Amino acid sequence: MDNALVFGGTFDPVHRGHIESVCGVARLLGDMDVYLVPCQVPAHRPRPAASPDARLKMLELAVRDQDRIFVDDCELRREGISYTVDTLLGYRERLGESGSLLFLMGRDSWLTLPSWDRWEVLTDLAHLVILERPGADQRAPEVLREWCKRRQVEDPEELMNSPSGKVCFLSVDQIDVSASGLRHRIAEGSSIEGDVNPLVTKYIRQHNLYAGASTKNKVAGKRMEHQ
Ligand code: ATP
Repeated sequence: MDNALVFGGTFDPVHRGHIESVCGVARLLGDMDVYLVPCQVPAHRPRPAASPDARLKMLELAVRDQDRIFVDDCELRREGISYTVDTLLGYRERLGESGSLLFLMGRDSWLTLPSWDRWEVLTDLAHLVILERPGADQRAPEVLREWCKRRQVEDPEELMNSPSGKVCFLSVDQIDVSASGLRHRIAEGSSIEGDVNPLVTKYIRQHNLYAGASTKNKVAGKRMEHQ
């Protein structure tokens, strides 16, 4: 492993917004290996509607034809709350001191960063790459804007020339899909075609996932809590 692009989430379920975004970033940065890391227990939101095993299985189905996207169950194997900082410590250990480590998140997650466990040390371990996302255009909290000032770079090339320490906002095509919206659509019997991999859709149907998830997860799903 020379470098890695890590993308964490609940993936409840994995959708087009996840896969197309991460592929767009990997292409932009020049073909790197991507690791999708589903969380076990999110820090500040209700447990995901689907079990860890089901979310893992859906991720595996969604990336089955992708050469350089891997699903990493490291957080599912850890007990307790899934903290990104612990995951990145593990990747840094595997990469050694010099490999570039990038952690990708949507802008909605970025806005919550100051509530993440040990958030200020995340850039000691990795670069943070932030994707614009429809509906997440609020101003970042003051503490985050200040913290970001000394770290922000415009040119994504800079991320590949150093192991960690930078923050970069990237524009790839914005995809207006969310897992909470999908759970709601499934619960009310609407189609999710086009927004979810057909193998994943089949799995959801076979296992009758999200059938009663409408109200609870629509409300709960708006915050990114993979911290
Ligand atoms: P929910 O609606 O339940 O909150 P979600 O669609 O945000 O779920 P998560 O698995 O919670 O999916 O998100 C994992 C990561 O993917 C987060 O950093 C989130 O910001 C990002 N993400 C999810 N969907 C998109 C999208 N359409 N575009 C860009 N980033 C996204």
